[in-house]
Amino acid sequence: MTLLTALSTAADDRPDAVRVAGRSISRARLLASATAVADRVRGLDRVAVLATPSLETVVGIVGALLADVTVVPLPPDAGPMEREHILRDSAAAAVLAATGHDVGGDLPVVPVSPDLRSSTSHPVPAPDRPALILYTSGTTGLPKGVLLSRRAIAACLDGLADAWAWTPDDLLVHGLPLFHVHGLVLGLLGPLRHGSRLDHVGRPHPERYAAAGGTLLFGVPTVWSRICADPAAARALRRARLLVSGSAALPAAVFDGLRALTGHRVAERYGMTETLITVSARADGPREAGWVGWPLPGVGTRLVDEHGDPLPADGSAMGELLVRGPTLFDGYLNRPDADAATRTGDGWYRTGDIATIGPDGRHRIVGRASTDLIKSGGYRIGAGEVEEALLAHPGVREAAVVGTPDPVLGQQVTAYVVGDGVAEPELIDFVARLLSVHKRPRRVHLVDALPRNALGKVQKTRLG
Ligand code: ATP
Ligand code: MG
Repeated sequence: MTLLTALSTAADDRPDAVRVAGRSISRARLLASATAVADRVRGLDRVAVLATPSLETVVGIVGALLADVTVVPLPPDAGPMEREHILRDSAAAAVLAATGHDVGGDLPVVPVSPDLRSSTSHPVPAPDRPALILYTSGTTGLPKGVLLSRRAIAACLDGLADAWAWTPDDLLVHGLPLFHVHGLVLGLLGPLRHGSRLDHVGRPHPERYAAAGGTLLFGVPTVWSRICADPAAARALRRARLLVSGSAALPAAVFDGLRALTGHRVAERYGMTETLITVSARADGPREAGWVGWPLPGVGTRLVDEHGDPLPADGSAMGELLVRGPTLFDGYLNRPDADAATRTGDGWYRTGDIATIGPDGRHRIVGRASTDLIKSGGYRIGAGEVEEALLAHPGVREAAVVGTPDPVLGQQVTAYVVGDGVAEPELIDFVARLLSVHKRPRRVHLVDALPRNALGKVQKTRLG
């Protein structure tokens, strides 16, 4: 079976089946212009695609996929070092970009245009062929190239169709980057597999989300937080069917704010570049702040302690989350060290994230083992809980909590806060009153902004 099932069926096509940054194309036209790209790149191993939020990016990516050429999306705002790393590491043979777009560098450029057409029929690639090399967000270090097969992508998208009741009747609206799993796999390949319409609004501005009239909306927590701060835009989402959040933890205040303004309980889902989406709240199930739901069909999860021994699903034991199933990647590119470190002998992938699992099978993500699990004075403290407590203070706009070395405690809880008219002692007392006293920050640094990557995730290793 082909990956982009909906592209080759004439059913339900319309001139605005795919809309990106205000320009529309029907699925039949998209297939024809992507086939023109496929004719050009056929036989190459991998190509980079300059991943601007544009129709050209869609045509380029679909064209390479039709030709069984692995796509390496290149973030359009990548600095020279990041760009160099991605192009060299992936050994892309060419760069696909809009006609006339200067991409620099010395790789051959294949011009892409929605106006070109071809009706060549390319053979359907085998399911185990690599469709994408996606680079991780670089939240904890240099981005790693992740090999994703067609089979893994199809399994993930079909699982999400089941969890979110995603059908051709949906209009998906989002404005996420087209170079990560969220915007590209879910946000572009999803509609092209499931046959729903797509309106990629270019940039994730609240008023654009509000104006698009979508039934299904995707956002990262920073997007939902901005929408929450714009009540008129948020109220316009009352007509939607399902709002989905992922890529980082959604603050409870944003979940509650959206519920009040839109009437919706946001569905949170959890995943990684390496595993695609593995766990999600369901359209037909309970959705609660802080819980990311149940494993997708075919996905298995388990919790282990530091020695790899299993922990109970009792809603309180915190351990590393292991996952396995059909959505897993085929390995890191040029990183056998990272591959070995993240696979257990019996086929599980070590996510590096700390979670709890409730007796009903629901998952809660505590944070990353490397930065979000603070070991202080014999206690294990999840950074997210302290961040939530700080965010409950009316003067705190953003908060990031880390463990810093302390001679007595091992690690001390240290907070970085963006706020208005707040002072360190007041915030320490505030948290001490909301949580167990040992969870209070010992230091609070007031800063102008938190270091964030393209998806708005806080880069904790850059704090300090
Ligand atoms: P790098 O691996 O380069 O440091 P990264 O881990 O941020 O970057 P991604 O693969 O884009 O790169 O992100 C996956 C991570 O995002 C997960 O391991 C998890 O820490 C976090 N994450 C994703 N969804 C959620 C969620 N719903 N709640 C909390 N954390 C989430
Ligand atoms: Mg990661």
